[in-house]
Amino acid sequence: MLDDIQEVLIEAEAIQKRVKELGEEISRNYAGRDLLLAGVLRGAAIFLVDLARAISLPVEMDFIAISSYGPSTKTSGVVSIRKDLDDSIADKDVLLVEDIVDTGLTLGYLLRILQARQPKSLQVVALLDKPARRIVEHPIAYKGFEIPDKFVVGYGLDYKQKYRNLPFIGTLKPEVFAR
Ligand code: 5GP
Repeated sequence: MLDDIQEVLIEAEAIQKRVKELGEEISRNYAGRDLLLAGVLRGAAIFLVDLARAISLPVEMDFIAISSYGPSTKTSGVVSIRKDLDDSIADKDVLLVEDIVDTGLTLGYLLRILQARQPKSLQVVALLDKPARRIVEHPIAYKGFEIPDKFVVGYGLDYKQKYRNLPFIGTLKPEVFAR
């Protein structure tokens, strides 16, 4: 698997350090409240479990899975729910946990459907932000790293469902895409 990597953009140690900082910040800001972490499958799964362990509050965890469809999957913003959250978020303090915000269309869709369920509060934590390709802007309360306009894998992010288990964020060699 390591042979397929072109460049490491964010080392594993840097990710762990940043996740710890985010966890501490979130713990301070949500002290005394009931926090629900809502993770977007599958990309945010690894980030969510590390983040949850960096938070010193008794958080709840839930997951939502979506699928993009339409001719241009990544930028259409046309998404459907494949697996909904298991529990109601009405009157809860919800933190939506995303792997990466690229165009922002997916995030916009998720915020719309979750806001309609009337949570007490709804904020976003995203591990990665790729601002170069943004089409719609939504506030990201907690952000791990800004990255350049490159397709990245690792720490939850995939290419054809693989490479999610890499402990760092990196790019793939061009020949991997040609296989
Ligand atoms: P957006 O709707 O913001 O354009 O897209 C967000 C989704 O696109 C992410 O949740 C992720 O699934 C996918 N995505 C965007 N950029 C990348 C990337 O560099 N690598 C991977 N693996 N997925 C990406």
